[in-house]
Amino acid sequence: MLNIVLFGPPGAGKGTQAVFLKDEFNLIHLSTGDLLRSQIAAKTELGNEAKRFMDKGELVPDEVVIGMIGSQLKENASAKGFIFDGFPRTVEQAKALDQLLNENGTPVSGMLALEVEKQELIDRLLERGKTSGRSDDTDVSIIENRIAVYNQKTAPLMNYYEAQSKYYPVNGMGSVEDIALRLKMLVEKL
Ligand code: ADP
Repeated sequence: MLNIVLFGPPGAGKGTQAVFLKDEFNLIHLSTGDLLRSQIAAKTELGNEAKRFMDKGELVPDEVVIGMIGSQLKENASAKGFIFDGFPRTVEQAKALDQLLNENGTPVSGMLALEVEKQELIDRLLERGKTSGRSDDTDVSIIENRIAVYNQKTAPLMNYYEAQSKYYPVNGMGSVEDIALRLKMLVEKL
């Protein structure tokens, strides 16, 4: 079983590359951002609660996203593996993921961290905001806050996975195809 954590700041290209990797390696793609946005679209209580955080560029509470991932893992019990996109985002979430996966005896195989310069992140998010309909992609101060939250709460996860010898930095600058190839070569060695 292959369990990949696709990691990187907002705008690093996780969603784009996750779609490529899931097809290439026959994995289930779990994006907490997508799962939360579908809850918002369905106007569920969870969605309404999450929206208050997402609109400000803040993280949704750990227990909410951990609960969502737990039920997705149960629903896809026969999967060949998973690609986690946008999860974990805090040390608490990473610990919970380890625990959930250990229950199935299939730990995280590797954490692939896309590295992209800050100005490029902002440019990409603003560009996406023109068509995505995502309000968190159109306002520079919200984007700046998401990047600050990433640096403060999410970036420490690099050390968390490094300590388990599972941290693989990947150059996330360049064409989508070039980056996909870099990721593919790494995953083949996991
Ligand atoms: P991006 O990677 O561009 O920020 P996402 O779709 O992954 O886009 O996330 C959008 C928003 O959803 C985040 O800013 C955050 O509010 C919320 N979110 C997504 N995943 C998580 C998570 N694992 N923990 C907490 N909040 C999350």
